[in-house]
Amino acid sequence: MSEILVETHNLVRIYKAADLEVVALQGLDLRVPRGEMLALVGPSGAGKSTLLNILGGLDAPSAGRCEVAGVDLTRLSAKERLLYRRRIVGHVWQQTSRNLLSDLTLLDNVIVPMVLAGYPTSKRKRRATQLLELVGLGPRIHHKPERLSGGEQQRGALAVALANEPPLLLADEPTGELDSVTAREVLALLRRLNHELGLTTIVVTHDHMVAEAMDRSVAIRDGRTSTEVVHADEEAEETVIIDGVGRLQIPKAILEQVPFKGRAVVHFAGDHVELWPVGTLPSPASGGVPPNQVRR
Ligand code: ADP
Repeated sequence: MSEILVETHNLVRIYKAADLEVVALQGLDLRVPRGEMLALVGPSGAGKSTLLNILGGLDAPSAGRCEVAGVDLTRLSAKERLLYRRRIVGHVWQQTSRNLLSDLTLLDNVIVPMVLAGYPTSKRKRRATQLLELVGLGPRIHHKPERLSGGEQQRGALAVALANEPPLLLADEPTGELDSVTAREVLALLRRLNHELGLTTIVVTHDHMVAEAMDRSVAIRDGRTSTEVVHADEEAEETVIIDGVGRLQIPKAILEQVPFKGRAVVHFAGDHVELWPVGTLPSPASGGVPPNQVRR
């Protein structure tokens, strides 16, 4: 089995404000193999950004386990957290202004993280140039962000994010401000970086096109993983995620059709498990016909 780069188990994040508590993540389990491209999808307020911030070392979990590239994110000192941010993760945000410093050329933008991480001076310029060539911006290295198109800025942002050779790239709606043609170009570049550098990528998105361009989409609902779709499968079928302690979320569309009303009977049927609304499980005496349909 391939190496797991990101693993969370029972991850909890509670925000406390005055006398109010918001449980943004309520026991989230996630495993991401090295080299995977993963989309995190789900309604607004589900906990996607909270998860991304924790994985990015910008926020700390309240409880549970969270490991990235062998680093335990629940036990980092402030200094270790800073090192983690500089070496293990690269970030691309939706707002291009957050990704690039407007006063610096593209080349200098890529060099800055290398300076902070203590890269030898002799290597910085060569590596920055190579990275900008890799993302197709070779002819633009001396341009400042304002002279670049939105797509070029996001490609530049990728070069900055990858400056320190992080094994994990985190992207929050990276194509959110781009038209669909440019968005496809950025997605194609992400795929190429994944192939060429073995880069593991986690993207938060509302956009189906972006999610479908990833290997797998995991939906987050109410602070937990709910369903997933593996796009590499021939028929990309939606499946529910059963977490480490056996919890699952029934997809909303099904829940609306079946009257579970808070409780259900779980029936083990030999090779599968059935959920029955209370009082409707057929008894063996009825020949397997639900009690409300028994004929005499
Ligand atoms: P998503 O990215 O899926 O839209 P978020 O992770 O931003 O969801 O938010 C999850 C929940 O946590 C929401 O209820 C949100 O209001 C709450 N939340 C997020 N950040 C904070 C914060 N800094 N303080 C208090 N509550 C927060």
